[in-house]
Amino acid sequence: MAIMINEECIACDACRPECPNDAISEGDPLYIINPDLCTECVGFHDTPQCAAVCPTDACVPDPSHQETREQLIEKKKKIHGE
Ligand code: SF4
Ligand code: SF4
Repeated sequence: MAIMINEECIACDACRPECPNDAISEGDPLYIINPDLCTECVGFHDTPQCAAVCPTDACVPDPSHQETREQLIEKKKKIHGE
């Protein structure tokens, strides 16, 4: 499942540099996660790093982009290679 950023975002920019997939971009007014690039950090970290650093808990699971761990691993391979 991709992570999404909800309306609690205060645009502090803490999450963007932490994403191993460059999935996070500055939006207006909220930051945005590209669901095609979000892998929940599989293969890099045990937990979603954007959620770990977000001061307002604005990074939450996106129910409209549900994926299994296997699908997330495949997505990571497509983005980064093996
Ligand atoms: S969960 Fe990981 S891959 Fe997804 S947007 Fe957050 S930091 Fe990036
Ligand atoms: S860390 Fe949280 S509050 Fe800061 S930009 Fe990212 S989603 Fe928004």
